[in-house]
Amino acid sequence: MKIVILDGHAINPGDLSWDAIGSLEPNARSMIPLMRNLRWIKLAPVFVLLAAGSRSKNDDWTPLVVSPLTASSWAFPGTDGKWHIVYELVLTNANVTPATVKRIEVVDASSPSSILTSYEGSELLAHLRTTANIPPANATIEFNGTRLFLIDIAGEASAKRPKRLLHHFDVLGGATPSHTSGTPAPLSYTVAALDVLSELPELGPPVAGKGWVALNGCCEVGGVHRSTGLPVNGKIVFAQRFAIDWMRMDDRGHLVNGDPSDVHSYPDYGANVLAVADGKVVDTLNTLNDQKPGHLPDPKTITLENVDGNHVVLDLGGGLFAFYAHMQKGSVTVARGDQVKRGQVLGKLGNTGNTSAPHLHFHLMDGPSVLGSSGLPYVIDAFVYAGQVPAAEFAKATNVEGDWSKGLFATPSPRRGQFPLDLAVVSFSAVKPAAKKRKSSWDGGPNTWAKVDSKGR
Ligand SMILES: [Zn+2]
Repeated sequence: MKIVILDGHAINPGDLSWDAIGSLEPNARSMIPLMRNLRWIKLAPVFVLLAAGSRSKNDDWTPLVVSPLTASSWAFPGTDGKWHIVYELVLTNANVTPATVKRIEVVDASSPSSILTSYEGSELLAHLRTTANIPPANATIEFNGTRLFLIDIAGEASAKRPKRLLHHFDVLGGATPSHTSGTPAPLSYTVAALDVLSELPELGPPVAGKGWVALNGCCEVGGVHRSTGLPVNGKIVFAQRFAIDWMRMDDRGHLVNGDPSDVHSYPDYGANVLAVADGKVVDTLNTLNDQKPGHLPDPKTITLENVDGNHVVLDLGGGLFAFYAHMQKGSVTVARGDQVKRGQVLGKLGNTGNTSAPHLHFHLMDGPSVLGSSGLPYVIDAFVYAGQVPAAEFAKATNVEGDWSKGLFATPSPRRGQFPLDLAVVSFSAVKPAAKKRKSSWDGGPNTWAKVDSKGR
């Protein structure tokens, strides 16, 4: 019986009100009559308070419990000129009465009245996920039920960037610890603090040349990378939270020319894949054949071992790992244990693993496990932002055929220290990296971390 605290004091069984008894374990309730003849034990303070019908001024009754999935988050500058914060909350209904999430506000902990973003109605539902990544039918969470809530905040470059976030919840849920489901009552509370860090890894580009398109990029919740949380090694992780599928368009804006079932029809096929920083090779695969492009391979043929195709994992030091997937068979030029330098060729872009067209899947993560690590944001030190692939048109298209150059800028924009967002078209190496290398202030590791201010750099 978990409530026992043997400190020698006795209380009268008559002090137990129904709600305190309701909050005991079932076995504890049946023991109440038997215990009349025993010396009484003191109940834990929380139960005593409930029995008295009062609570501490500092305590909130929170039947829907909330915690951030990760220990911290980062504010990073995107190619839209705004800062972005992307993370997840875990919601669990710890009360027998169903809990309905009505509204969630993300607020700056230093001034809780300043609401950074809020979600309700269909917008709230669009950000809610089951633990298996399935969008739920509604925002009601059953007793013992858990949901994930995907958050993406963006702020104008001139706006103050928060250092700590809090989350204000409006919930319809159980108002007492009764073990009988009751009528949900409106409850309102602010919980789940999350620190926002501003030091970001600064990397070189994973490919070189012009016309690279950041497909399946940050930060819409519907994106295949952003919304994929997996239960691995005892926890739910979003390894691909900030992953980008890089494809290259040619001078006519085409991602494919000719037969879409031939890997050679794609302008990016065979492009050099580059080390984004100095590091050590910790994993490779180099033996899988290309898939026939145009459609995803038969799911029955995809396993945890071959899903990423031929790949390289680099340990960049300081707890950072870079992951490159879907490379050409036999093209990987490095082996486990090799030290690599930034810009070194690791292999060639291909179409191996679970892929429907040649591309480079790249993401940064906090461990060597490709599926079991948490995805991290970063900035690329220098590139030219050439435009955007039109999002609505691209979403409607059934394949990547066509001219995607309509969103290119008349004057491309040189950028330093930004993260390319979804469907950004960028060119690498046309801008020289800043001559002076910034010193890491994060952990003394070998890579450069950029302290990014709200105006970018
Ligand atoms: Zn990908």
